[in-house]
Amino acid sequence: MKRIFRGGMIVTGSGLKEADLAVEDGKVLEIGSHLDSAGAEVEDVSGKYLFPGFIDAHTHMALEVSGTITADKFDTGTKAEIAGGTTCIIDFATQEKGETLAEALEHWHRKADGQSSCDYAFHLALGDWNEAVSQELEQVVREGISSFKLYMTYDNRVDDKTMYEVLHRLKELGGIAGVHCENHGIIGARLEEVLREKGNRKDVSDYPKTRPAEAEAEAIHRLLKIAKCVDTPVIVVHLSTAQGYREIQRARKEGQVVYVETCPQYLIMEESKYTLPDGKGRNYMIAPPLRTDEDRETLWQALSENQLQTIATDHCSFTEEQKRAGAEDFSRTPCGMPGAEERPAIIYHYGVGKQRLTLEQMCRYLSEGPAKQYRLYPQKGALLPGSDADIVVWNPQTEWMLLADRQQSAADYCPLEGTRLKGRAEKVYLRGELVAQDGVIQKEKTGIYIRH
Ligand code: MN
Repeated sequence: MKRIFRGGMIVTGSGLKEADLAVEDGKVLEIGSHLDSAGAEVEDVSGKYLFPGFIDAHTHMALEVSGTITADKFDTGTKAEIAGGTTCIIDFATQEKGETLAEALEHWHRKADGQSSCDYAFHLALGDWNEAVSQELEQVVREGISSFKLYMTYDNRVDDKTMYEVLHRLKELGGIAGVHCENHGIIGARLEEVLREKGNRKDVSDYPKTRPAEAEAEAIHRLLKIAKCVDTPVIVVHLSTAQGYREIQRARKEGQVVYVETCPQYLIMEESKYTLPDGKGRNYMIAPPLRTDEDRETLWQALSENQLQTIATDHCSFTEEQKRAGAEDFSRTPCGMPGAEERPAIIYHYGVGKQRLTLEQMCRYLSEGPAKQYRLYPQKGALLPGSDADIVVWNPQTEWMLLADRQQSAADYCPLEGTRLKGRAEKVYLRGELVAQDGVIQKEKTGIYIRH
């Protein structure tokens, strides 16, 4: 069945265009004025924006971490995504120590296949590095995974030699790495300091100083120097600090190619959340932590100057009960927050609505940018003839409120509970099928795996 979206404003990364858009068989058919509606279902979208379905390139669904598993598996987590307008995620399939890459991917397919309400691709988070894994990478890239994740902190962190070797191997294979940049040694020492000085680690307000901005900046600096030796581009994921950004600017000035992702939480929340009473601060424990107003302003400025490439969620959700694991020692709190459903509306409200970003920039950061970065373009991230008919009909007038009991996520709190937003994904189409309307799921578990 052909469907025509009539009279809307089509948003691309490089301009706005008032035009009709026709879709058929799950694909965009054509764009033009006064398209022939014979035999077509016509939907009046005047006064609305049409975005290519948003892409969330940083999610952790069904991740086993800190002795537990994220509250959102692929079922609820991807319902949260489509409710907000995101039609494709790239989740971090994670290799455990001793696993082959094939085993890791098979493990992630078991979690995702048949469960996902949006389309999904995988990055592979490397947790073990040896000659066999290096050899196996070739097969993995050939079969459709081109992006990899490395951690500079946590138990699965890589040392500098491994970082060099992995980047070198990825360069040979045409893959790219996204890196969690924090200095592991500083974090470890600061955690011990808190314990020595206070006798316990109950006070969540001590959390941010255990992961200072310098820890991020140092790791970014070191990563970029290693990448320079290898002579390859890298991605800094979830950039949170002005200091870290300055390292990136310096490297770029010397000619390095550095791609940068940030997340809504680093744009609109800051570290005072950790002083909330009754353990509520744990709900905001993420890594890297929330930062200062100056950091937030720097990130907004960088976005407005087109210096960052993507805005992703780092959706990694836990319930308050799960967060209570850190009641006696905040370092035992599983780190992460939900954010999948609200990301587009937050960027619209605080970015476009406050004149910090244009609609075109919103399209680039949420859709076109991640599609290009991760080789999904123009199947995803574009409304061009032949692109998947992943379409968000955006109503810029809708006013609504973020509330935990209305959200799709299995997390039982909403970090921005009670926040009023203007602008919402009114209708969300996945390959031509209506999957969500005003936050209500219309069709679930129709997502398919996408190679990239
Ligand atoms: Mn993450």
